[in-house]
Amino acid sequence: MKTSISKPDFQYPEDEHFFSFLLGEDTLFTDRFDFSEPTEKRRIFDGLKKQAMDETIRQGRTRCELQLVQDCDSKKLVLDHIIPLSSNELNKHSRKMIAPRGKKVPTQSFGSNHPSNFLVACEKCNNFKKHRFIKKDGDKWLVINVKNSL
Ligand SMILES: [Zn+2]
Repeated sequence: MKTSISKPDFQYPEDEHFFSFLLGEDTLFTDRFDFSEPTEKRRIFDGLKKQAMDETIRQGRTRCELQLVQDCDSKKLVLDHIIPLSSNELNKHSRKMIAPRGKKVPTQSFGSNHPSNFLVACEKCNNFKKHRFIKKDGDKWLVINVKNSL
């Protein structure tokens, strides 16, 4: 059983380190992590994102929360993950894994489909962010370059 007190069970200690830096807490937001198969998480997300988006709008979250780009305009909003569902950034930059010939560096599963891991973003900011990590700085979000933050 997962409780909100227990810490996420990271594969590597340096990952826990990175996410402590990212989330700015020593108690990590456990609900924001789910290490199960990313394709399965993506399938689940596709099934729930419309309802979850309606729910966030009902909460009054009708503006882009990322505000990363100059022409951020909140016209077309999408639901985005704070912790990406999967990423190979830590394998690449923290463990310096090299991609096997013709393949990509393997991804790790990280983010969850829990509402605490959702934010509302305009399409422009969402496209700008891509699969990168973000960190809250005061009331702003910053895109984090993993290479420079280890
Ligand atoms: Zn925006």
